[in-house]
Amino acid sequence: MEIITTVKGMQERTEELRRTGSTIGCVPTMGFLHEGHASLVRASASRHDRTVTSIFVNPTQFGPNEDFGRYPRDFERDVATVGTAGGSIIFAPTVEEMYPDGYATSIHITGVTDPLEGGFRPGHFDGVATVVAKLLIAIQPHEALFGAKDYQQTCVVKRLVRDLGLPVTITVEPTIREADGLAMSSRNIYLSTQDRQKATVLFRALMAGISEAERGVASSDDIERTMRDVLSEVADLSVDYASAVLADSLQRPSAFGQGVDIVLLIAARLGSTRLIDNMTCRIGG
Ligand code: AMP
Repeated sequence: MEIITTVKGMQERTEELRRTGSTIGCVPTMGFLHEGHASLVRASASRHDRTVTSIFVNPTQFGPNEDFGRYPRDFERDVATVGTAGGSIIFAPTVEEMYPDGYATSIHITGVTDPLEGGFRPGHFDGVATVVAKLLIAIQPHEALFGAKDYQQTCVVKRLVRDLGLPVTITVEPTIREADGLAMSSRNIYLSTQDRQKATVLFRALMAGISEAERGVASSDDIERTMRDVLSEVADLSVDYASAVLADSLQRPSAFGQGVDIVLLIAARLGSTRLIDNMTCRIGG
């Protein structure tokens, strides 16, 4: 495994690869990799000569009371996971390398960043947009792959790339789940055995909302009530939002038209662990 830790070193490596005609796929991550990340690396490796997996826990996308300090890390295991999935290069810069002394630049995207996560994690998407732009400038891949698990993040990244005219294709790959439906996440390690069982309620709530929407129920209130009813089965679950919105704009009309693509999104906390999940579907199926 080739491990690169500086922006300049990464750019020089990319230049060399491009000069010799290689195509480059890139999978940005915060490490502590699981099967969801591995599926992105595999998808990239299946269509590119080289896949660069970045591992960087980005401090600027965490709020002051969030889990930056205790975010799980296991670099050795990550190297093995990337290798098994077909990745050959890891870009793992330090915080000082990405944000050196005097660093003063941030990217702020309006609109798509406002609802949902934007309301509960102020500044989060400024951190995401800025670090993704920096990673894309360092790695200069032909394609960058993201997971549908972080649906709003994919909307933000697509907006970033369109608005700045960055020369990269953004691809979104499906959410990988545990056998009982829980979306894989590095943060699932925080869950106690009891909470791990309770956490499946997000999947069940989304499935209930999806089946209603696919039956043709078009009222966002009705679909959201169905999801909240299921979520209320877990008494100590604290729901930040359970929303039905348009899949492309994340806007929330009171009623959707038949045949319209929507996304259902849930964020909820179990103890100190915050879980997010989502599913897309079409009104009327
Ligand atoms: P993270 O390390 O959590 O920042 O995630 C890095 C990338 O992996 C992002 O594009 C995530 O959306 C994606 N990802 C995380 N969990 C999953 C999952 N369960 N299925 C598919 N992609 C995922």
